[in-house]
Amino acid sequence: MAPRLSSRRDAVLREMGLGPIWRLRVREAEADATEEVFEQEAGAPAASGTAAKIATPRAETSRAGTSGAGTRHAPVVPPAAAAPAAGPQPGPARPGGARNVEPPRAHAAAPQPAATPALADTPPPPSAPDPARSARIATLDWEALEAGIRDCRACALCERRKQAVPGVGDRQARWMLVGEAPGAEEDQRGEPFVGQAGRLLDNMLAAIGLKRGEDVYIANAVKCRPPHNRTPERGEIAACLPYLDRQIALVQPQLLIALGRPAAQALLDREIAISAARGKRFERADVAVVVTYHPAYLLRNPQDKAKAWEDLCFARRLMAEVG
Ligand code: URA
Repeated sequence: MAPRLSSRRDAVLREMGLGPIWRLRVREAEADATEEVFEQEAGAPAASGTAAKIATPRAETSRAGTSGAGTRHAPVVPPAAAAPAAGPQPGPARPGGARNVEPPRAHAAAPQPAATPALADTPPPPSAPDPARSARIATLDWEALEAGIRDCRACALCERRKQAVPGVGDRQARWMLVGEAPGAEEDQRGEPFVGQAGRLLDNMLAAIGLKRGEDVYIANAVKCRPPHNRTPERGEIAACLPYLDRQIALVQPQLLIALGRPAAQALLDREIAISAARGKRFERADVAVVVTYHPAYLLRNPQDKAKAWEDLCFARRLMAEVG
């Protein structure tokens, strides 16, 4: 049975036609297992239908000269006022998993006194552990960059990957989404967010009138799959950061959306608690950054989808101001 829509916000979402896209259908008998099925798969007609219901301010103007200075809706968070680091957040990975569906990795979100994630307790890694390597990567064009990512052996993740997963989408997009790291399906197919979390991400994009590949570029903080979908380690994120830096420099997005805590920390180079950082505008080298929950977290915590919806609406307002 579908979960009851209890809050007024959920009612609004339902009213806007979002409920069927965002809600999970969980078989009662397996409610506590991982058999979660989307009523709406990515690419199905309802996704675009929903998108059409929502006015999306897509600026047609040139991207030049849009500095994105402070706004009424989105005060910039100065570095000193960074979101406080919360205690360890990710819950344990769910056991088992749906058939043919890789269980999403556990992601940081609402504060939970739980296990210690790799990134929680120590200061953020240096963003340029090898300045010469970073400087070289910073000069690469798209082809050389993707080739470099595919051949990369800068950390141990290369040893167990099927392939590295550089990124996908519009290379001149105004929107750039950054996830954590590839999972099994991404490792297999070489494209970010093509598994279960990716289908939810596509629906999230559709909800704000966006589509993978159209004014949207999607990348991960880490380009190779961590074993067993564990959270990437600090050193792995640091080793991959020059690639993400270069992707951002080449795309020149107007807005970055960090999906989950590792992505937020990679982008902002500071401790982040998603629950505290939501709804705030950050800056990364003059590019506006907003953070929201990772789709895999939302798969396990569907009650927070309304918050993610709020975050996307906030991002859309911000884009209207900076884009
Ligand atoms: N989770 C991520 O963070 N990235 C992917 O590409 C897939 C799942």
